[in-house]
Amino acid sequence: MGFDLESALRSRAGEGAALWGRYLNPQTARVLRSIGFDRRWERAEGCYLYDDTGARYLDYLSGFGVFGIGRDHPVVRQALHDVLDLGLADMVQMDTPLLAGLLGEALIERAPHLDRVYMCSSGTESVEAALKFARCATGRGRVLYCDHAFHGLTAGSLSVNGAKEFRQGFGPLLPGAMVPFGDLDALRRELQAGDVAALIVEPVQGKGVAVAPPGYLAEAAALLHKHGALLICDEVQTGIGRTGRFFAHEYDDVQPDLVTVAKTLSGGFVPLGATLGTSAIFEKVYSSMDKVLVHDSTYGHNALAMAAGLATLSVIDDEGLVARAAETGGSLAGALRSAAERYPLIRDVRGRGLMIGIEFGRPESRRLRARYGPLTVARKGLFTQMVVCALFEQHNILTQTAGDHMDVLKLLPPLSTSREDVDWYMKGFCAVMDSIHDSSRPLWHFGWGLTTRAARRG
Ligand code: PLP
Repeated sequence: MGFDLESALRSRAGEGAALWGRYLNPQTARVLRSIGFDRRWERAEGCYLYDDTGARYLDYLSGFGVFGIGRDHPVVRQALHDVLDLGLADMVQMDTPLLAGLLGEALIERAPHLDRVYMCSSGTESVEAALKFARCATGRGRVLYCDHAFHGLTAGSLSVNGAKEFRQGFGPLLPGAMVPFGDLDALRRELQAGDVAALIVEPVQGKGVAVAPPGYLAEAAALLHKHGALLICDEVQTGIGRTGRFFAHEYDDVQPDLVTVAKTLSGGFVPLGATLGTSAIFEKVYSSMDKVLVHDSTYGHNALAMAAGLATLSVIDDEGLVARAAETGGSLAGALRSAAERYPLIRDVRGRGLMIGIEFGRPESRRLRARYGPLTVARKGLFTQMVVCALFEQHNILTQTAGDHMDVLKLLPPLSTSREDVDWYMKGFCAVMDSIHDSSRPLWHFGWGLTTRAARRG
């Protein structure tokens, strides 16, 4: 009688993939099976995942960056229990809940040039708000975005997506134009007509882990302001300590007009996003009492999300996670750069803090080229997928490719990852690189297996 979570999990154990195939998205189960990622996860803690055989995995994906403070953090868990136990009057809607006010205050303390916060429940919603606010504040329609940009997949965010694979089939989208990341001349040209509301940009792009060239963001801001347009920094992935500063735009000495955050801010239990902006912008949007609900969301201020955000910020401070991300990220990138000297297939190691990309490329050696070339011709990015699969299969390390059709491996560990975790990663990575550079047949064969499976998948 009634719902019993434990018995549901026990009695239907192992049916996840079949149920996904039938009711959610059959492609998910197919993709996971084809790359050998079809584990049954039992539990998670800190930087680790455990499967149903009890094996421990190093989580250097951290749920696409959601678990910045690590999984199942006891401080956030306690805050959520407290919200439930207090029986708060949540989402009355006709109210001004204290927890939302406290979270707004805590975020603005960390972004002193901004004044106001809009709360929501995901990264894409925080971007939607920024796009609407920029259009409303400037009275203009076009939004510029960068090539390879990723800002979420709802219709507005998709309009500023820099990859055609995502956009195809969903148009027509909002008006705007793509400018090459880092190209100020292209930006200048687009601004001439005077119809641009804003440029939206990630200080470090998630796809490919490309870092904004020095001076780009500051000069872009100056150009935009000169032409009456705004700068939106999308910090959904880079914000809240990920890059070794609280916000990644701090590296560039720039004051964006709007900043979006989500992922790490949530603590990993309850969805949460936020859009930070100047009072001048917010006053144009919420310009009169009639407009009080002109942009809003039913769940936006819910107590669980607000408490999770406040608890997460306290963990970030108490555990010194911003400084730790800078320090651990520095040692991990340093170790990878030394390794790169031994492995000609590594072309670049880049990123900031604990957002690191390892780019592979065509090696000088004919012997390696003969193996790398055909794999890459079959499908760009397949080489990296082979490395990701080998790390997972042979060393229990979970990572990802940094985007479709690119040979970049991305590391996004929890900010609390330890020296021992870094050693675990480096040991596994070097073992995989050794076997690839020794042209060990099994691994390259595995890579070829992926091409046929990818082809079958379409
Ligand atoms: N913006 C950036 C920079 C992101 O990396 C993402 C997600 O990966 C989003 C927006 C969308 O966030 P969400 O998936 O929470 O909608």
